[in-house]
Amino acid sequence: MKIARLFVGILFIAATSLYAVDELALRLEPALETITPDGLLAHIKVLASDEFEGRAPGTKGEELSVKYISDQFKQIGLKPGNPDGTYTQEVPLAGIKSEPRMSFTVSDKAIDLKYPNDFVASSARLQPEINIHNSDVVFVGYGVVAPEYGWDDFKDVDVRGKTLLMLIGDPPVPDPKDPSKLDEKMFKGNAMTYYGRWTYKYEIAAKRGAAAAIIIHETGPAGYPWQVVRSSWSKENFELDQPDKNMSAVEARSWITLDAAKKMLADCGQDLDALKKVAISKSFRPVALNAKSNIGIKQSLRSFKSHNIIGKLEGNDPKLRDEYVIYTAHWDHLGRRPELQGDQIFNGAIDNASGCAAVMQLAAAFKKLNPLPKRSLLFMCTTAEEAGLLGAKWYAEHPLYPLEKTLADINIDTLNVWGKARDIEDISFGLSTLDDMLAAAAKGQGRTAIANTRPQKGHIYRADSFEFSKVGVPSLYTGKGQHLLSRPENAPLAADEYDSKDYHQATDEVHSDWDLSGAVQDVQLLFEVGYQVANGDKSPEWKAGSEFKAKRDAVLTK
Ligand SMILES: [Zn+2]
Repeated sequence: MKIARLFVGILFIAATSLYAVDELALRLEPALETITPDGLLAHIKVLASDEFEGRAPGTKGEELSVKYISDQFKQIGLKPGNPDGTYTQEVPLAGIKSEPRMSFTVSDKAIDLKYPNDFVASSARLQPEINIHNSDVVFVGYGVVAPEYGWDDFKDVDVRGKTLLMLIGDPPVPDPKDPSKLDEKMFKGNAMTYYGRWTYKYEIAAKRGAAAAIIIHETGPAGYPWQVVRSSWSKENFELDQPDKNMSAVEARSWITLDAAKKMLADCGQDLDALKKVAISKSFRPVALNAKSNIGIKQSLRSFKSHNIIGKLEGNDPKLRDEYVIYTAHWDHLGRRPELQGDQIFNGAIDNASGCAAVMQLAAAFKKLNPLPKRSLLFMCTTAEEAGLLGAKWYAEHPLYPLEKTLADINIDTLNVWGKARDIEDISFGLSTLDDMLAAAAKGQGRTAIANTRPQKGHIYRADSFEFSKVGVPSLYTGKGQHLLSRPENAPLAADEYDSKDYHQATDEVHSDWDLSGAVQDVQLLFEVGYQVANGDKSPEWKAGSEFKAKRDAVLTK
């Protein structure tokens, strides 16, 4: 009886949604048709051209990007997205160029580390000089305090003024029943939680009053090789220029290579592999090392205003137009590195000229609709994502429209340029009801939405949507980890090849063999999801068990 009723229910849902999808597809067709490979490519070519110098915040690349994108928004017919009548939101940033020195003293012997081959170091504090002398070095395992897992790597140990040596990633706790696997109940098994991110490591170090935090780099748990750390941290970096000049941040934050860490630990009479073994247990206690750290950082600082670029398409329903759906993609990238031989420009074609191209094409597509959606749409290209999601963070802390009326953020960071795919990767899979909308829209294209293919890389915490999630706004973030039609089903992911070859390298450029037909499908899907939210009867919600649900509930009942 129960089964029969369920079956009829499924049939009914299937029938109504099929009908709805068909009718909807017809209504949306003229808009969807405006999203094309050539349209995307034209925007990407401009933003990723050498003239834009890799789009670093506060450079000529910013000026050109802001002008190009806001001109496009104007031409499309969007209204200024800032209620002050402009297409930009100022984001106060500080640029920091660090020249670090670092050495350890282990029983009178000095061990010098070479920059940037052995280590990188900088400070978020807006100070011209950082000096840490003779600070006790303590190994704190993963440096995690996670009450929900009954985990505290610090126990009762006072680490104020000390230098913390820590492992990257989540504690990989083995499953007690099958030690060859990770315990699904601890830190989401193989997936990365926020405790695994480097940003968390430096935040907890600051909270504990440590002087410095040194992360031991490992490619697997970090999600990227040392060259990514080296090139990201040895150039000018950016922080929000907060009124307290970021004095609450840890004084020095550093990464060292696995080899350098092993050597230093061996000099202290310790073995990294043995330490890692004890670090995956709840009973781990910090290990005081027979070493002192000396860290000196000279910092050249400059303060300037960077910009989020934002356009608005007003909703058609007078009652609902003060509710919003927001599309985001970061416009910034890594800029230019004059000290490099050969190609010095990090063009960031895929990361993220492609995402901005998608946002501009989405805006133009929505403008084609007649009638326009009931709710308003915001199209935002954010700044300083590469420096730690700073533009999105600033917006989330200083929203131009009430967050409780912001129904969803749909974030685009890198498009698939390798042709049509069987599926679309939903990096935020399982977190909110936006998933179900994406899955339904994908089905309409004869495709499937699949769960995050590489949850161990923590991509969900590495994109602007995370800043929206943190303040409770339901967020969708799709990726390029897809199974291409042109490859066998079990072939390596093109996205993995991109990550190991071109990601955050000068080679992330427009290539003549690109096929943007898959990108078009993905952008069309995201159009449909945004349309459903902007026109639908039910607001997206976080699902039970999502780490962001409590925040949304609090915002909505305020
Ligand atoms: Zn990106």
